[in-house]
Amino acid sequence: MKAAIETIMPALLRTVGAAGVYARTPVFEEVNDRLSLLISRYREPATEVLHFPPVMSRQLLETSGYLDSFPHLLGCVSCLEGDEMKIRSAVESGGWLTTLKASELVLAPAACYPVYALQAEVGRLPDEGRLFDVSAFCFRHEATSEAGRLQSFRMREFVCVGTPTQALEFRSRWIPRARQLVERLELPYEVVAASDPFFGRGGQLAASRQIEQSLKFEMVIPIGSAPTACMSFNYHLDHFGSTWSLRTADGAIAHSSCVAFGMERLVLALFANHGLDPWQWPAAVREALHLA
Ligand code: ATP
Ligand code: ZN
Ligand code: MG
Repeated sequence: MKAAIETIMPALLRTVGAAGVYARTPVFEEVNDRLSLLISRYREPATEVLHFPPVMSRQLLETSGYLDSFPHLLGCVSCLEGDEMKIRSAVESGGWLTTLKASELVLAPAACYPVYALQAEVGRLPDEGRLFDVSAFCFRHEATSEAGRLQSFRMREFVCVGTPTQALEFRSRWIPRARQLVERLELPYEVVAASDPFFGRGGQLAASRQIEQSLKFEMVIPIGSAPTACMSFNYHLDHFGSTWSLRTADGAIAHSSCVAFGMERLVLALFANHGLDPWQWPAAVREALHLA
């Protein structure tokens, strides 16, 4: 039984004073947890699992080229520095915002960035390449806050670093696997060519190149009346390989690809398409999620 987005948002999430920032209710978290476990059951063998915190090294993200493509989405952690007198006077003058100093941390805008830096520290890749399962609470300074566009959300990603063939085959395997996953959840969907929300006029060129070269696909699922990107399938060519000098076993520059799951969007899609009470969802969906 479908539920209107105007009904599900206030029933499942609580606004807490900032657009696109929500407290999650127990029923929302229950479904999120069970969906996470379902996704884990799709993990390929020999995949390394890492859970990242919501912050990451600013330098790491700068090196990754994030500011060239998405400076408008980035959030940086700023702190008050100095002795007690300096900090106290900044606070008491009311001008503390102008005294803030950028720290060495930024808010993670996606889960997979630290993976390439990790690989850079260990030398050449093994013959079979390397697979990761990573997750993080992500922040994006989004310009709008329609349903499903949060400033703070969880991203789960499977990542492949290896030869061009390994990276491409990984993505090719994952598109049908993701179709199967959402079919088990009885969600309507489409897989479409897509581009990233690159910054500015130069960004339009990067976006059309991405479409031409089939570098990004998205799985869109209706949340309310709006088709919403709930997963993405990304082939980075040698972007991270060149940036971090990642080498395959035979010494060539590595390629990479990732499959990203927007957890809140997938959870909202489940409620929007099956109704507010998970224990009333179709039996096969409950079974897939182990919702007894
Ligand atoms: P969109 O198309 O909505 O702008 P995107 O193309 O920037 O998203 P990706 O960078 O591919 O998204 O991120 C992977 C997944 O993370 C998306 O498919 C989506 O499910 C989720 N996601 C991205 N941005 C948000 C957001 N602001 N709020 C909630 N989920 C998000
Ligand atoms: Zn990624
Ligand atoms: Mg998109």
